Amino acid sequence: MTATTAMTSSSDFDVTPLIHHPYRPPEGFAAPQAGVYKASTVIFPNVAAMRSRDWRNRNGYTYGLHGTPTTFLLEERLAALEGGSHCVLAPSGLAAIALVNLAMLSAGDEVLLPDNVYGPNREMARSELLRLGISHRLYDPLDAAGLAFMISPATKLVWLEAAGSVTMEFPDLENLIAAAKARGVATALDNTWGAGIAFKPFELGVDIVMHALTKFPSGGGDVLMGSVTTRDAALHERIKLTHMHLGLGVAANDAELILRSLPSIGLRYAAHDATARELAAWLATRPEVARVLHPAFESCPGHAHWKKLCGAAAGLFSVMLDPRYSQAQVDAFVDALQLFSIGYSWGGPMSLAVPYDLKAMRGDKAYAGSLVRFAIGLESAAALKADIEQALAKLA
Ligand SMILES: *Cc1c(COP(=O)(O)O)cnc(C)c1O
Repeated sequence: MTATTAMTSSSDFDVTPLIHHPYRPPEGFAAPQAGVYKASTVIFPNVAAMRSRDWRNRNGYTYGLHGTPTTFLLEERLAALEGGSHCVLAPSGLAAIALVNLAMLSAGDEVLLPDNVYGPNREMARSELLRLGISHRLYDPLDAAGLAFMISPATKLVWLEAAGSVTMEFPDLENLIAAAKARGVATALDNTWGAGIAFKPFELGVDIVMHALTKFPSGGGDVLMGSVTTRDAALHERIKLTHMHLGLGVAANDAELILRSLPSIGLRYAAHDATARELAAWLATRPEVARVLHPAFESCPGHAHWKKLCGAAAGLFSVMLDPRYSQAQVDAFVDALQLFSIGYSWGGPMSLAVPYDLKAMRGDKAYAGSLVRFAIGLESAAALKADIEQALAKLA
Protein backbone atom coordinates (compact mmCIF):
# COMPACT_ATOMS: atom_id res chain seq x y z
CA MET A 1 0.00 0.00 0.00
CA THR A 2 1.40 3.38 -0.94
CA ALA A 3 0.44 6.89 -0.04
CA THR A 4 1.56 10.25 -1.24
CA THR A 5 3.71 11.79 1.48
CA ALA A 6 1.97 14.18 3.82
CA MET A 7 2.44 17.85 3.27
CA THR A 8 4.67 19.05 6.09
CA SER A 9 4.29 22.74 5.39
CA SER A 10 1.42 24.80 4.12
CA SER A 11 3.63 26.14 1.31
CA ASP A 12 0.99 25.83 -1.41
CA PHE A 13 -1.53 27.65 0.75
CA ASP A 14 -0.93 31.25 1.75
CA VAL A 15 -2.61 32.49 4.95
CA THR A 16 -1.16 36.00 4.54
CA PRO A 17 -4.48 37.53 3.41
CA LEU A 18 -6.11 36.14 6.57
CA ILE A 19 -3.65 38.09 8.74
CA HIS A 20 -3.14 41.22 6.65
CA HIS A 21 -6.69 42.12 5.87
CA PRO A 22 -7.96 45.67 5.42
CA TYR A 23 -9.62 45.72 8.85
CA ARG A 24 -9.88 49.27 10.13
CA PRO A 25 -9.87 49.62 13.93
CA PRO A 26 -11.64 52.59 15.53
CA GLU A 27 -9.87 55.94 15.18
CA GLY A 28 -6.83 56.15 17.46
CA PHE A 29 -6.87 52.44 18.41
CA ALA A 30 -4.44 50.70 16.08
CA ALA A 31 -4.85 47.11 17.33
CA PRO A 32 -4.63 44.53 14.50
CA GLN A 33 -7.11 42.10 16.12
CA ALA A 34 -10.72 42.69 15.15
CA GLY A 35 -13.21 44.07 17.66
CA VAL A 36 -16.39 42.26 18.66
CA TYR A 37 -19.47 44.31 17.79
CA LYS A 38 -22.84 43.20 19.14
CA ALA A 39 -26.18 44.59 18.09
CA SER A 40 -29.78 43.88 17.49
CA THR A 41 -30.76 47.53 16.94
CA VAL A 42 -28.65 49.75 14.71
CA ILE A 43 -29.47 53.48 15.10
CA PHE A 44 -30.09 55.55 11.97
CA PRO A 45 -29.24 59.27 12.10
CA ASN A 46 -32.60 60.19 10.54
CA VAL A 47 -35.56 58.77 8.63
CA ALA A 48 -34.02 59.51 5.24
CA ALA A 49 -30.96 57.42 6.17
CA MET A 50 -33.25 54.64 7.41
CA ARG A 51 -35.23 54.65 4.14
CA SER A 52 -32.15 54.72 1.92
CA ARG A 53 -30.07 52.06 3.63
CA ASP A 54 -30.24 48.70 1.93
CA TRP A 55 -29.48 45.26 3.47
CA ARG A 56 -27.61 44.43 0.24
CA ASN A 57 -25.18 47.29 0.76
CA ARG A 58 -22.43 46.27 3.16
CA ASN A 59 -21.39 49.88 3.71
CA GLY A 60 -24.55 50.58 5.66
CA TYR A 61 -25.80 48.59 8.64
CA THR A 62 -29.55 48.08 9.04
CA TYR A 63 -30.16 45.53 11.81
CA GLY A 64 -27.99 43.10 13.80
CA LEU A 65 -29.47 40.11 11.99
CA HIS A 66 -28.40 41.53 8.62
CA GLY A 67 -24.75 41.89 9.66
CA THR A 68 -22.36 43.70 11.98
CA PRO A 69 -18.72 44.78 11.49
CA THR A 70 -17.70 41.48 13.16
CA THR A 71 -19.75 39.18 10.92
CA PHE A 72 -18.92 41.19 7.78
CA LEU A 73 -15.21 40.87 8.56
CA LEU A 74 -15.45 37.10 9.03
CA GLU A 75 -17.42 36.82 5.78
CA GLU A 76 -14.75 38.82 3.95
CA ARG A 77 -11.92 36.69 5.32
CA LEU A 78 -13.68 33.44 4.45
CA ALA A 79 -14.30 34.69 0.91
CA ALA A 80 -10.60 35.65 0.68
CA LEU A 81 -9.51 32.20 1.91
CA GLU A 82 -11.55 30.54 -0.80
CA GLY A 83 -11.01 32.99 -3.65
CA GLY A 84 -14.72 33.88 -3.56
CA SER A 85 -16.23 37.34 -3.62
CA HIS A 86 -19.26 37.06 -1.30
CA CYS A 87 -20.06 35.05 1.82
CA VAL A 88 -22.88 34.68 4.35
CA LEU A 89 -22.70 33.04 7.76
CA ALA A 90 -25.20 30.56 9.18
CA PRO A 91 -25.59 29.23 12.74
CA SER A 92 -24.25 25.74 11.82
CA GLY A 93 -22.95 23.80 8.86
CA LEU A 94 -26.32 22.11 8.53
CA ALA A 95 -28.10 25.50 8.58
CA ALA A 96 -25.80 26.55 5.71
CA ILE A 97 -26.87 23.43 3.76
CA ALA A 98 -30.54 24.27 4.42
CA LEU A 99 -29.92 27.85 3.29
CA VAL A 100 -28.48 26.69 -0.04
CA ASN A 101 -31.34 24.23 -0.58
CA LEU A 102 -34.05 26.79 0.20
CA ALA A 103 -32.41 29.55 -1.85
CA MET A 104 -31.93 27.36 -4.92
CA LEU A 105 -34.94 25.02 -4.99
CA SER A 106 -38.71 25.41 -5.49
CA ALA A 107 -41.65 23.02 -5.70
CA GLY A 108 -41.28 20.74 -8.74
CA ASP A 109 -37.48 21.01 -8.77
CA GLU A 110 -35.05 18.17 -8.23
CA VAL A 111 -31.70 18.13 -6.40
CA LEU A 112 -29.03 15.48 -7.05
CA LEU A 113 -26.91 14.32 -4.10
CA PRO A 114 -23.80 12.11 -4.09
CA ASP A 115 -24.57 8.71 -2.52
CA ASN A 116 -21.91 9.37 0.15
CA VAL A 117 -23.27 12.83 1.02
CA TYR A 118 -23.16 14.13 4.62
CA GLY A 119 -26.06 12.16 6.15
CA PRO A 120 -28.17 15.07 7.47
CA ASN A 121 -28.16 16.67 3.97
CA ARG A 122 -29.77 13.49 2.60
CA GLU A 123 -32.18 13.39 5.56
CA MET A 124 -33.22 17.00 4.81
CA ALA A 125 -33.98 15.98 1.21
CA ARG A 126 -36.00 12.98 2.44
CA SER A 127 -38.07 15.05 4.86
CA GLU A 128 -38.29 18.84 4.52
CA LEU A 129 -37.54 19.10 0.79
CA LEU A 130 -39.93 16.27 -0.07
CA ARG A 131 -42.64 17.99 1.97
CA LEU A 132 -42.06 21.17 -0.09
CA GLY A 133 -42.49 19.24 -3.35
CA ILE A 134 -38.75 19.07 -4.11
CA SER A 135 -37.51 15.65 -5.18
CA HIS A 136 -34.00 14.20 -4.98
CA ARG A 137 -31.95 11.33 -6.36
CA LEU A 138 -28.57 9.95 -5.36
CA TYR A 139 -25.71 9.68 -7.86
CA ASP A 140 -22.36 7.87 -7.79
CA PRO A 141 -19.69 10.59 -7.26
CA LEU A 142 -17.11 8.51 -9.18
CA ASP A 143 -19.34 8.28 -12.27
CA ALA A 144 -19.59 11.67 -13.99
CA ALA A 145 -21.18 10.14 -17.11
CA GLY A 146 -23.86 8.68 -14.83
CA LEU A 147 -24.56 12.13 -13.39
CA ALA A 148 -24.79 13.65 -16.89
CA PHE A 149 -27.36 10.95 -17.75
CA MET A 150 -29.43 11.67 -14.61
CA ILE A 151 -29.76 15.45 -15.09
CA SER A 152 -33.30 16.31 -16.21
CA PRO A 153 -35.07 19.60 -16.96
CA ALA A 154 -36.27 19.55 -13.30
CA THR A 155 -32.69 19.34 -11.94
CA LYS A 156 -31.83 22.70 -10.40
CA LEU A 157 -28.95 21.86 -8.06
CA VAL A 158 -26.17 19.28 -7.83
CA TRP A 159 -24.47 18.85 -4.45
CA LEU A 160 -20.82 17.81 -4.40
CA GLU A 161 -18.74 16.67 -1.46
CA ALA A 162 -14.99 15.98 -1.47
CA ALA A 163 -14.09 13.62 0.10
CA GLY A 164 -17.41 11.89 0.77
CA SER A 165 -18.57 11.51 4.36
CA VAL A 166 -17.41 8.39 6.24
CA THR A 167 -16.39 6.26 3.23
CA MET A 168 -14.04 9.01 1.97
CA GLU A 169 -14.34 8.39 -1.79
CA PHE A 170 -12.84 11.37 -3.62
CA PRO A 171 -15.25 12.40 -6.41
CA ASP A 172 -14.43 13.04 -10.05
CA LEU A 173 -15.02 16.74 -9.32
CA GLU A 174 -13.84 18.17 -12.63
CA ASN A 175 -16.11 15.98 -14.73
CA LEU A 176 -19.08 16.18 -12.33
CA ILE A 177 -18.90 20.00 -12.48
CA ALA A 178 -18.53 19.90 -16.27
CA ALA A 179 -21.61 17.63 -16.53
CA ALA A 180 -23.72 20.05 -14.45
CA LYS A 181 -22.39 23.12 -16.29
CA ALA A 182 -23.13 21.57 -19.69
CA ARG A 183 -26.82 21.49 -18.66
CA GLY A 184 -26.82 24.87 -16.93
CA VAL A 185 -27.37 23.32 -13.48
CA ALA A 186 -25.91 25.06 -10.41
CA THR A 187 -23.38 23.18 -8.28
CA ALA A 188 -22.89 23.46 -4.51
CA LEU A 189 -19.83 21.93 -2.86
CA ASP A 190 -19.71 20.95 0.80
CA ASN A 191 -16.03 21.86 1.25
CA THR A 192 -15.76 21.18 4.98
CA TRP A 193 -13.06 18.53 4.41
CA GLY A 194 -10.99 20.70 2.02
CA ALA A 195 -11.41 23.76 4.29
CA GLY A 196 -10.31 26.08 1.47
CA ILE A 197 -6.83 24.54 1.73
CA ALA A 198 -6.77 21.19 -0.06
CA PHE A 199 -7.96 22.58 -3.42
CA LYS A 200 -9.55 25.69 -4.93
CA PRO A 201 -13.18 24.90 -5.84
CA PHE A 202 -14.00 28.19 -7.58
CA GLU A 203 -11.12 27.56 -9.99
CA LEU A 204 -12.87 24.30 -10.89
CA GLY A 205 -16.07 26.20 -11.70
CA VAL A 206 -18.15 25.40 -8.59
CA ASP A 207 -20.95 27.97 -8.12
CA ILE A 208 -21.52 27.73 -4.34
CA VAL A 209 -19.08 26.63 -1.64
CA MET A 210 -20.51 25.68 1.75
CA HIS A 211 -18.51 25.02 4.93
CA ALA A 212 -19.09 23.72 8.42
CA LEU A 213 -16.88 26.30 10.15
CA THR A 214 -17.49 24.09 13.17
CA LYS A 215 -14.58 21.92 11.97
CA PHE A 216 -11.18 23.29 10.82
CA PRO A 217 -11.92 27.04 10.78
CA SER A 218 -12.94 26.85 14.46
CA GLY A 219 -10.35 24.25 15.36
CA GLY A 220 -11.48 24.34 18.98
CA GLY A 221 -14.45 21.99 19.09
CA ASP A 222 -16.39 24.80 20.78
CA VAL A 223 -18.28 26.68 18.04
CA LEU A 224 -21.06 25.77 15.63
CA MET A 225 -21.17 27.84 12.45
CA GLY A 226 -21.51 27.54 8.69
CA SER A 227 -20.81 29.64 5.63
CA VAL A 228 -21.96 29.92 2.02
CA THR A 229 -19.52 31.57 -0.40
CA THR A 230 -20.01 32.51 -4.06
CA ARG A 231 -18.21 34.37 -6.82
CA ASP A 232 -21.37 35.68 -8.41
CA ALA A 233 -23.15 38.80 -7.14
CA ALA A 234 -26.61 37.77 -8.36
CA LEU A 235 -26.30 34.30 -6.83
CA HIS A 236 -25.10 35.82 -3.57
CA GLU A 237 -28.05 38.19 -3.48
CA ARG A 238 -30.46 35.29 -3.94
CA ILE A 239 -28.82 33.42 -1.03
CA LYS A 240 -28.61 36.55 1.12
CA LEU A 241 -32.32 37.25 0.58
CA THR A 242 -33.28 33.72 1.71
CA HIS A 243 -30.84 34.15 4.63
CA MET A 244 -32.70 37.29 5.66
CA HIS A 245 -36.16 35.72 5.25
CA LEU A 246 -35.12 32.78 7.45
CA GLY A 247 -33.68 35.03 10.14
CA LEU A 248 -30.33 33.22 10.26
CA GLY A 249 -27.91 35.08 12.51
CA VAL A 250 -24.68 34.20 14.29
CA ALA A 251 -23.43 35.53 17.62
CA ALA A 252 -20.58 38.06 17.54
CA ASN A 253 -18.56 36.17 20.16
CA ASP A 254 -18.76 33.00 18.07
CA ALA A 255 -17.71 34.90 14.94
CA GLU A 256 -14.76 36.30 16.88
CA LEU A 257 -13.64 32.78 17.89
CA ILE A 258 -13.46 31.81 14.22
CA LEU A 259 -11.66 35.07 13.34
CA ARG A 260 -9.07 34.28 16.02
CA SER A 261 -8.54 30.69 14.78
CA LEU A 262 -8.39 31.37 11.04
CA PRO A 263 -4.76 32.54 10.77
CA SER A 264 -3.54 29.18 12.15
CA ILE A 265 -5.78 27.03 9.93
CA GLY A 266 -2.97 26.17 7.48
CA LEU A 267 -0.63 24.99 10.25
CA ARG A 268 -3.34 23.02 12.00
CA TYR A 269 -4.55 21.40 8.78
CA ALA A 270 -0.99 20.31 7.90
CA ALA A 271 -0.47 18.88 11.41
CA HIS A 272 -3.76 16.90 11.37
CA ASP A 273 -2.85 15.71 7.86
CA ALA A 274 0.69 14.50 8.70
CA THR A 275 -0.41 12.54 11.80
CA ALA A 276 -3.42 11.04 10.00
CA ARG A 277 -1.27 9.82 7.12
CA GLU A 278 1.29 8.30 9.47
CA LEU A 279 -1.40 6.41 11.39
CA ALA A 280 -3.27 5.37 8.24
CA ALA A 281 -0.05 3.98 6.69
CA TRP A 282 0.67 2.00 9.86
CA LEU A 283 -2.92 0.72 10.12
CA ALA A 284 -2.73 -0.50 6.51
CA THR A 285 0.01 -2.94 7.62
CA ARG A 286 -2.05 -4.36 10.50
CA PRO A 287 -3.63 -7.80 10.04
CA GLU A 288 -6.85 -6.64 11.76
CA VAL A 289 -7.43 -3.99 9.05
CA ALA A 290 -8.93 -5.05 5.73
CA ARG A 291 -8.80 -1.64 4.07
CA VAL A 292 -7.77 1.96 4.74
CA LEU A 293 -10.10 4.63 3.31
CA HIS A 294 -8.01 7.81 3.11
CA PRO A 295 -7.98 9.82 -0.15
CA ALA A 296 -4.15 9.96 -0.21
CA PHE A 297 -3.99 6.15 -0.31
CA GLU A 298 -4.43 4.02 -3.42
CA SER A 299 -6.82 1.77 -1.48
CA CYS A 300 -9.36 4.63 -1.35
CA PRO A 301 -11.85 4.92 -4.23
CA GLY A 302 -11.18 8.13 -6.18
CA HIS A 303 -7.52 8.37 -5.05
CA ALA A 304 -6.50 9.41 -8.58
CA HIS A 305 -8.93 12.35 -8.46
CA TRP A 306 -7.51 13.46 -5.10
CA LYS A 307 -3.98 13.19 -6.45
CA LYS A 308 -4.79 15.33 -9.47
CA LEU A 309 -6.33 18.19 -7.45
CA CYS A 310 -4.77 18.13 -3.98
CA GLY A 311 -1.50 17.91 -2.12
CA ALA A 312 -3.04 18.21 1.32
CA ALA A 313 -5.68 16.06 3.00
CA ALA A 314 -7.70 16.56 6.17
CA GLY A 315 -6.89 14.52 9.29
CA LEU A 316 -9.80 12.23 8.67
CA PHE A 317 -9.86 8.60 7.54
CA SER A 318 -11.76 5.37 8.00
CA VAL A 319 -10.67 1.76 8.26
CA MET A 320 -12.63 -1.35 7.37
CA LEU A 321 -11.84 -3.97 9.95
CA ASP A 322 -11.55 -7.57 8.84
CA PRO A 323 -15.07 -9.04 8.32
CA ARG A 324 -14.25 -11.85 10.79
CA TYR A 325 -14.83 -9.37 13.64
CA SER A 326 -18.39 -8.97 14.91
CA GLN A 327 -19.91 -5.54 15.48
CA ALA A 328 -19.68 -6.25 19.23
CA GLN A 329 -15.91 -6.82 18.90
CA VAL A 330 -15.49 -3.64 16.88
CA ASP A 331 -17.52 -1.69 19.46
CA ALA A 332 -15.28 -3.14 22.19
CA PHE A 333 -12.21 -1.94 20.23
CA VAL A 334 -13.61 1.61 20.08
CA ASP A 335 -14.56 1.47 23.78
CA ALA A 336 -11.01 0.36 24.64
CA LEU A 337 -9.45 3.50 23.07
CA GLN A 338 -8.22 5.87 25.75
CA LEU A 339 -6.94 8.95 23.88
CA PHE A 340 -9.59 8.76 21.15
CA SER A 341 -12.94 9.92 22.45
CA ILE A 342 -16.22 8.68 21.02
CA GLY A 343 -18.00 11.58 19.38
CA TYR A 344 -19.04 13.30 16.16
CA SER A 345 -17.38 16.20 14.39
CA TRP A 346 -13.67 16.83 13.76
CA GLY A 347 -11.07 19.56 13.29
CA GLY A 348 -10.52 20.11 17.03
CA PRO A 349 -7.45 19.29 19.13
CA MET A 350 -8.85 15.97 20.42
CA SER A 351 -8.86 12.78 18.37
CA LEU A 352 -12.22 11.06 17.91
CA ALA A 353 -13.40 7.63 16.75
CA VAL A 354 -16.86 6.52 15.60
CA PRO A 355 -17.94 3.04 14.46
CA TYR A 356 -20.42 3.20 11.55
CA ASP A 357 -22.86 0.58 10.35
CA LEU A 358 -22.38 0.90 6.60
CA LYS A 359 -25.08 -1.57 5.68
CA ALA A 360 -27.65 0.71 7.32
CA MET A 361 -26.12 3.80 5.64
CA ARG A 362 -25.33 2.59 2.13
CA GLY A 363 -26.58 -0.97 1.75
CA ASP A 364 -23.45 -1.36 -0.39
CA LYS A 365 -21.85 -4.78 -0.76
CA ALA A 366 -18.51 -3.20 -1.71
CA TYR A 367 -18.04 -2.40 1.98
CA ALA A 368 -18.13 -5.72 3.82
CA GLY A 369 -17.02 -5.58 7.44
CA SER A 370 -17.26 -2.88 10.07
CA LEU A 371 -16.00 0.65 9.55
CA VAL A 372 -14.38 2.89 12.14
CA ARG A 373 -13.79 6.55 11.32
CA PHE A 374 -10.88 8.30 12.95
CA ALA A 375 -10.70 12.10 13.21
CA ILE A 376 -7.10 12.84 14.12
CA GLY A 377 -6.49 15.71 16.52
CA LEU A 378 -3.26 17.41 17.51
CA GLU A 379 -1.87 14.75 19.89
CA SER A 380 1.46 13.10 19.01
CA ALA A 381 1.34 10.34 16.40
CA ALA A 382 3.31 8.02 18.74
CA ALA A 383 0.78 8.40 21.56
CA LEU A 384 -2.19 7.82 19.23
CA LYS A 385 -0.51 4.78 17.68
CA ALA A 386 0.18 3.24 21.09
CA ASP A 387 -3.46 3.82 22.01
CA ILE A 388 -4.79 2.12 18.85
CA GLU A 389 -2.31 -0.73 19.35
CA GLN A 390 -3.51 -1.51 22.86
CA ALA A 391 -7.16 -1.31 21.72
CA LEU A 392 -6.51 -3.62 18.73
CA ALA A 393 -5.19 -6.20 21.19
CA LYS A 394 -8.74 -6.27 22.64
CA LEU A 395 -10.10 -7.39 19.24
CA ALA A 396 -8.37 -10.76 19.42
C1 LIG B 1 -20.03 18.60 10.34
C2 LIG B 1 -20.42 18.67 8.92
C3 LIG B 1 -21.51 19.41 8.49
C4 LIG B 1 -22.46 20.10 9.45
O1 LIG B 1 -21.85 21.02 10.31
P1 LIG B 1 -22.56 21.39 11.71
O2 LIG B 1 -21.94 22.70 12.05
O3 LIG B 1 -22.21 20.29 12.65
O4 LIG B 1 -24.02 21.51 11.46
C5 LIG B 1 -21.77 19.45 7.15
N1 LIG B 1 -21.01 18.81 6.26
C6 LIG B 1 -19.95 18.08 6.63
C7 LIG B 1 -19.14 17.39 5.59
C8 LIG B 1 -19.61 17.98 7.96
O5 LIG B 1 -18.58 17.23 8.32
